[in-house]
Amino acid sequence: MNIKDIMETMDYGPAPEASTDVEAWLESRGRVFGHFIDGSFTGAGNASIEVENPATGEVIARIPEGTEAEVNAAVAAAKEAFPAWSRLPGFERARYLYAIARHLQQRERFFSVLESIDNGKPIKETRNADIPLAIRHFYHHAGWAAAIDTEFPGHEALGVCGQIIPWNFPLLMLAWKIAPALAAGNTVVLKPADLTPLTAIAFAELLVEIGLPKGVVNIVHGGGATGALIVRHPDIAKIAFTGSTAVGREIRRATAGSGKKLSLELGGKSPFIVCADADLDAAVEGVVEGVWFNQGEVCCAGSRLILQEGIADRFLAKLRARMERLRVGDPLDKSTDMGAIVSAGQKARIMGLLEGAKAEGYRLEQSSCPLPERGRFIAPGFFADTEPSATVSQVEIFGPIAVTMTFRTVDEAVQLANNTSYGLAASIWSENINGATELAARVKAGVVWINATNIFDANAPFGGYKESGYGREGAREGMLGYLKRSVRKAAPAEIVPADLTAMPQTEGAVATYIDRTMKNYIGGKQARPDGGASYAVRDPSGEILGLAPISNRKDIRNAVEAAAKAASWAGNAHNRAQVLYYLAENLSARAAEVAALLQRMTGVSKEKAAAEVRQTLERCFYYAGMADKHDGLIHAAKPRHLTLSVKEPIGIVGVAAPDQSPLLSLMSLVLPLIATGNRVVAVPSPACALIVQPLYQLLDTSDVPAGVVNLVTGDRDTLAKVLAEHDAVNGLWYCGTAEGAAEVERLSAGNLKQVWTNNGLAIDWVDDAVARGPEWLDRATQVKTIWVPYGA
Ligand code: NDP
Repeated sequence: MNIKDIMETMDYGPAPEASTDVEAWLESRGRVFGHFIDGSFTGAGNASIEVENPATGEVIARIPEGTEAEVNAAVAAAKEAFPAWSRLPGFERARYLYAIARHLQQRERFFSVLESIDNGKPIKETRNADIPLAIRHFYHHAGWAAAIDTEFPGHEALGVCGQIIPWNFPLLMLAWKIAPALAAGNTVVLKPADLTPLTAIAFAELLVEIGLPKGVVNIVHGGGATGALIVRHPDIAKIAFTGSTAVGREIRRATAGSGKKLSLELGGKSPFIVCADADLDAAVEGVVEGVWFNQGEVCCAGSRLILQEGIADRFLAKLRARMERLRVGDPLDKSTDMGAIVSAGQKARIMGLLEGAKAEGYRLEQSSCPLPERGRFIAPGFFADTEPSATVSQVEIFGPIAVTMTFRTVDEAVQLANNTSYGLAASIWSENINGATELAARVKAGVVWINATNIFDANAPFGGYKESGYGREGAREGMLGYLKRSVRKAAPAEIVPADLTAMPQTEGAVATYIDRTMKNYIGGKQARPDGGASYAVRDPSGEILGLAPISNRKDIRNAVEAAAKAASWAGNAHNRAQVLYYLAENLSARAAEVAALLQRMTGVSKEKAAAEVRQTLERCFYYAGMADKHDGLIHAAKPRHLTLSVKEPIGIVGVAAPDQSPLLSLMSLVLPLIATGNRVVAVPSPACALIVQPLYQLLDTSDVPAGVVNLVTGDRDTLAKVLAEHDAVNGLWYCGTAEGAAEVERLSAGNLKQVWTNNGLAIDWVDDAVARGPEWLDRATQVKTIWVPYGA
């Protein structure tokens, strides 16, 4: 086509971006690359993994598969570099981060072209999104580094962080991981995806140029096996992972009991809700951005189009027309909208899902746009009418194909939107701000865009709900993921033995203890345990004080069911505060009686027992006061957007309480959870289970709604295990043995519930600085980031 033809048809002519610099760079290195360990490039001699250009299928480079020795060397270098790096004044670390940002900026075009060649994504996107956002991340985190002492007092770096990233946004994911880690004073061992290692290699060269101290960042190449070596390495303090939910689960299991901090940014199947009053043209552009951006290889892609009935046909007609105009082809052409799928394997996976759906009877509509003859291209498209239960409606396609379904009422839209095990993002289209914000509040997702989609910023937290993982990246919230409170090293927690043998149910025994046989407290009622058996709770001299239920799986299930019915508790913070004040008031009225029970059960002095009750009372007051003060933030992210991070409860949270200070510790766990709107199923200390008996009446008389607090007694680890495995339980706080902690962490991988444990270590429940405060409220909540554009 010559210029004259183009002028006649007014079609786009080819506008290729030159790749000479990138080709020269590849050639100059012989197209063979090694790891970056302790400031040196090493291991290129074993470069056995071929790196392909997805647009052509040509092999453009080779990298090695990181061995155990290489991973060990990288971790050792990072460990060695940690003391000096973490002790550097924040300002000095900031200068390095700033230098990285500046150098990346100077080489923006080079990185954009290299990313397009390596991943297959269009240059339009690498140039406008991937690389500028990566740069923004380093600038933003240079700021956190400089301000670390004032913004995060009492916090310190974690140590060596293992970071594993996927292939869909290679440099951007590297920036999301490395920038906050370094700003906080950590050192890093990062593994790029073996499909897309090249920008990480160029980045390592840039680190040498700016003189980053050796060992602060180490990059090890390889596939899943190399990743697994990093995950299991004992000298690593945190694993940050972005990738599939399946691998996220494996990592959760592999790190169980290791004490490693863990953040998981996993898959999604995000709803894209178009209401009848939406600006349909804008929403169609939203689909272009939300579904076809990056060939649909986006974890937060709005790949489930949920359309209000009245406008569904009109919307799809507009979408078809727009889809026809998309240009799929050479990623280096500046007018290309969609590039190549990253690998033959990924293309085969997508095609398999599409064929499966067609075989199930679903109709796939795809653009008739021409596709290049070689390379791995898929035309954009959508399934016109899909059942919510269809495989393609439930699993990540991770390709340029959406599914569509319709709704009539807002309730139906919410139901469809939340009908997924994922909860990464949602996009809502409506010109009615009241309706849109109602949907934003009710959709279970970590990021919600109103009349927009796929907006990211370094100062906006990003991360998921449910099986999309936990932890946030970006902003203040993301920084907290790379810091810990400075605390003294704790000794192992002491476990007070409890004999959970069922008391014989002979006439005599029952008659003797009948008046002292406690029940469980489930759904606001006292409930006999399912198994009907009870055990003796004794004082330190062995004398029986009363009987407590030996609960089982069924009792926990009943309690979870009761908790599920109390969802409205999350609604009103002021009301929660009032209820907690009332609870404190009622506890105060019965303080002497509760203290006497505590004294008998634990054998502490009268003064100590009274002090424990008093401190429990104080915590009640504290959390009542905080119920309406644990605010979110409005982030200074992009201009003309309100970027809100709202703190929402996790949902139903299991609690396994420790033996020490049995009343204070139990309530120190339960109170922050219910103050922030969660519902709780708690297992008290088995040795001191009777301490919950007075709580039943207190909860009843304090207007705590039925199901908000459920108390189930029995063997801590048996019941914690049931809670950890329960799919309707969204979180679990466990205080027991190191083995018990490891077990619940491992079991939590099922629905990826958020687990916090004491790692088997003692906690000083009396120390306010340790056992109460914003950290507990943060742990009890998850951040939902809501983007609201403004302006006429
Ligand atoms: P993976 O989750 O397998 O890969 C992500 C990263 O983890 C890569 O660096 C990978 O290495 C590494 N890895 C793989 N297995 C392990 C392991 N056992 N332990 C530690 N690290 C490991 O994603 P895939 O690339 O296989 O993609 C499969 C599907 O996952 C996609 O089709 C998509 O649905 C989803 N996905 C979701 C992403 C998201 O951002 N939510 C990102 C990427 C994929 P390597 O790739 O080198 O083998």
